[in-house]
Amino acid sequence: MKRKFAIFGCFLVGLLMIVLLPSLAFAGGSQSAAEDGTDGEPIDFVYIDSQEVVIGTTEYVVVSFNEKIDSAYALTLLVEREGDGKILEFTSTKVVDDAALFELSFDDESTGVYSLISVCFQDGSNAERTIALDSDENHGSFVVKPAGSGPDLRDSGIETNVYGLDDDGSIINKDGLGDATPISPLSLNSSNRTGDFVIVLDAGHGGSDPGAVGNGIKESDINLKIARYCKEELEKYYGVKVIMTRDSDTRVGLEDRSAIARDAGADFFISFHINSGGGTGAEVWIPAVNDSWHSSFHEIGDAIGNDILSKLSALGLNNRGTKFDYYTLNGGRYYPDGSPADSLSVIRNCRLYGIPAILVEHGFIDRASDANILKDDNKLASMGKADAEAIASYFGLSKEQRPVVEASWMRNGEIDLTWSAVDGAERYAVALKTESGYHTYIYDCTETSYTVTGLENGEDYQFLVQAYVDGHWTSFSDRDIFSCTLIPMPEARVESTGDGTVTLSWGAVDGAEAYAVAEYVGGRYVTYTLDCRDTTYTVSDLANGYEHSFLVQAKVGGRWSSFGPANLVKATPEGAMRPSVSAEPADRSVALTWDPVPGAERYAVAVREGSGWRTFTYDCRGTSYTATGLSNGTEYEFLVQALCMGRWSSFGEGDVVSVIPADPTAPEARVESTGDGTVTLSWGAVDGAEAYAVAEYVGGRYVTYTLDCRDTTYTVSDLANGYEHSFLVQAKVGGRWSSFGPANLVKATPEGAMRPSVSAEPADRSVALTWDPVPGAERYAVAVREGSGWRTFTYDCRGTSYTATGLSNGTEYEFLVQALCMGRWSSFGEGDVVKVKTPGTKIMGSSNASIEQMTALFYASGHEYPADIYSPRGASTIEDFCQIVYEESAAEGVKAEVLFSQAMVETGWLQFGGSVRAEQCNFGGLGAVSNSVAGASFPNVRIGLRAQVQHLKAYASNDPLNNSCVDPRFQFVKRDIAPTVEDLNGRWAVPGTGYGQSITSLVERMLNL
Ligand SMILES: [Zn+2]
Repeated sequence: MKRKFAIFGCFLVGLLMIVLLPSLAFAGGSQSAAEDGTDGEPIDFVYIDSQEVVIGTTEYVVVSFNEKIDSAYALTLLVEREGDGKILEFTSTKVVDDAALFELSFDDESTGVYSLISVCFQDGSNAERTIALDSDENHGSFVVKPAGSGPDLRDSGIETNVYGLDDDGSIINKDGLGDATPISPLSLNSSNRTGDFVIVLDAGHGGSDPGAVGNGIKESDINLKIARYCKEELEKYYGVKVIMTRDSDTRVGLEDRSAIARDAGADFFISFHINSGGGTGAEVWIPAVNDSWHSSFHEIGDAIGNDILSKLSALGLNNRGTKFDYYTLNGGRYYPDGSPADSLSVIRNCRLYGIPAILVEHGFIDRASDANILKDDNKLASMGKADAEAIASYFGLSKEQRPVVEASWMRNGEIDLTWSAVDGAERYAVALKTESGYHTYIYDCTETSYTVTGLENGEDYQFLVQAYVDGHWTSFSDRDIFSCTLIPMPEARVESTGDGTVTLSWGAVDGAEAYAVAEYVGGRYVTYTLDCRDTTYTVSDLANGYEHSFLVQAKVGGRWSSFGPANLVKATPEGAMRPSVSAEPADRSVALTWDPVPGAERYAVAVREGSGWRTFTYDCRGTSYTATGLSNGTEYEFLVQALCMGRWSSFGEGDVVSVIPADPTAPEARVESTGDGTVTLSWGAVDGAEAYAVAEYVGGRYVTYTLDCRDTTYTVSDLANGYEHSFLVQAKVGGRWSSFGPANLVKATPEGAMRPSVSAEPADRSVALTWDPVPGAERYAVAVREGSGWRTFTYDCRGTSYTATGLSNGTEYEFLVQALCMGRWSSFGEGDVVKVKTPGTKIMGSSNASIEQMTALFYASGHEYPADIYSPRGASTIEDFCQIVYEESAAEGVKAEVLFSQAMVETGWLQFGGSVRAEQCNFGGLGAVSNSVAGASFPNVRIGLRAQVQHLKAYASNDPLNNSCVDPRFQFVKRDIAPTVEDLNGRWAVPGTGYGQSITSLVERMLNL
């Protein structure tokens, strides 16, 4: 079968191509050559369409193999994301010849940089294989960007168009076109005879598999005999190539039989068999009816099969007709388009490969009448001949030698026809096939070529050439008709027109819509333009000194002219082939720069070592390179080579650049501690120094203090005291900094405080701590003593103050602040601990709480107000109660919230339950010194609260009472001894630990309501 290609359909431009080549090596003094890496490598090349792909668009990857791959099975491509190693798997969407297309799409989670990892496929022997694509030298990568991240900017480097996609999305293989016949068949009608007609003959069974046996004969022998007779007959035809799947008594696997046909590019396949199992006569198995997968094969098989059967019946075999069988829809075998597959292996697999196949059962071996025929070699020869004649008849094969026609060139309105010579031919006739018949141009052509003129560009034509031999004209069939479309092939010239530049020019083609210009490089066409409207085109940036081959095609009526090696024109651009290098020495490095070499793909940089060369890079894509890691004061010899057309530029001693890295003198510095957290550096002046730099070496890095010191002394302050610090001083001379290393470091330990000196300011339930900064401190930690240990408030205080909150009022706390210097926490002793007591809640003062807040606090407690008890005692509701609290507190200058909270603490939210009963109206437990002593009683709520207020005032102030004294214990209190609620601990309540704090806690809650 012909390989079907599209031609220059739609090239993608700006392609990235990765060729897997073995690494190159510099050899001392000689030119290193790039080898053709295709031999033995399973992968020919990998093609990545876009270096950047936006989510929502498709990335195309083509993997081309150097060997046959089984197109019936999908291939798998693995890619890996950099960073998290996420692996994505893609299945091939198309396989054409030895290349597979993958269409990669990505979801929103898949942005990032991806590398190709491997490709998995089935080879010609159906073995599953995986090939790594991430070699050390090359790995293909691309970036997946989020949608809307800007235009797709592609590298405008060397464009190597290897594969494209045509309008149908088919892969267009440019490879191998250079090997095609002078006129590429690609643009020509597929009915043309451009090669032998290949027929594969398959003698069934063989070797350990005899097939059917009966009546003293075995099937495998008979099959082979018929096949050999068939071959003998077919080879009498011209332009036919016959291939046997076996030509001896050997066993051949079923899959192998169709694979032989596939590998041979067979046009037809026939399998020879003998039937058994009760019956008589011949039958032919043919491809089943299938309206999608090679639908024509059923008709082909049916036509040939019936022809064979009619011939076999003439030999005495009953005609059992043509038959076919296929898997039902759920039978499990399908063609790639999903249609059910033929049941017979050879028919199915051949159909898969695009080869029509039939299987002929030449009678029944277990039927005596049939077996008698099969024992007769003359009959077998007739059977083989019958099979051959049916095939030859269907495909128009001829025993007569006939001219095989090609078009060798096309011009405006003209086609040059050439044809193969026929033995003994006296002359030839050339005719044009028209709708009504044939129009003969010439009857007496004695050459094997003829130019047909008066044609129209863009039209389809069919030609016939006949030979006159032995007094008659050769006959012909459809197979002998040569079809083509007249698209003139531009006749191009090319010449070198400058450094790396050539200019192509060609004659105009009538009706041409556009011209394409391509270069033929390494077996492939690199397209420069598909839309040239002029008849001249200049190509620049070509490698000088190498011959380049170019192709120009014309497009007429949407179709491109055909092409082949004869269309190539060649030129060698003149100009430099080697990089001209200049070197700039620096501190322990040399910066190399060179002019671009036209056509260079990349550059290699090497330095001479002994008698050889040490290569820094083989893959420099720019025109500069800085060699580092050199020694100052040593002479180095550098070499830069350019890779052009797959070859490294040659070189001689004249291309070697010698250079000595320079080194401004480093200043000799001293350093000493000159104060709290302060050191002073000084150094001797360096001749010609423009500026000095001072840096500190901290934790493996240099922290620069200044790059522009004009003096020879520099003071660094705020350093951590008590630690050794390392400093570096550099001089800048002529724009370059002096070199440095560990030997240039100078060290000093500043003296001064290493621990924070802390002062504390107590406030309401908090303490504000402040301290002087510790030189060099990165941060501070603040802790409070709890039991035998410390509770840390923060390890990460960046300032010099901290407010510890959530403390209890009226409580003594011990605080500690530590500084982190040079990665270590400052040490501490008891002398560093700061003791501070939080203030208590003042008893005296104007009320902060409202009546609403007091009642709200009571309701929030969930307790019921004892209205039945206090209603007759002047307070029917909690609101009445709080109103009295408010009035009585105000009367003596006591805070209402203190009185109310204390009453709630003492009475358990007016529920009592202790030695005091509710009816006593004693809300402060006055006189109730134990659980058995009930204490004082008051006539009503107001007097009870008044007595409590007066008792509080007795403790908290020296002021006289405003109301008459109703507190029976007023005179027992030492006045002004407890100004805060917390001071009541051990006084109002004994022992009273936490008594004042519990009142304060209620006060806080109330004020927050
Ligand atoms: Zn058989």
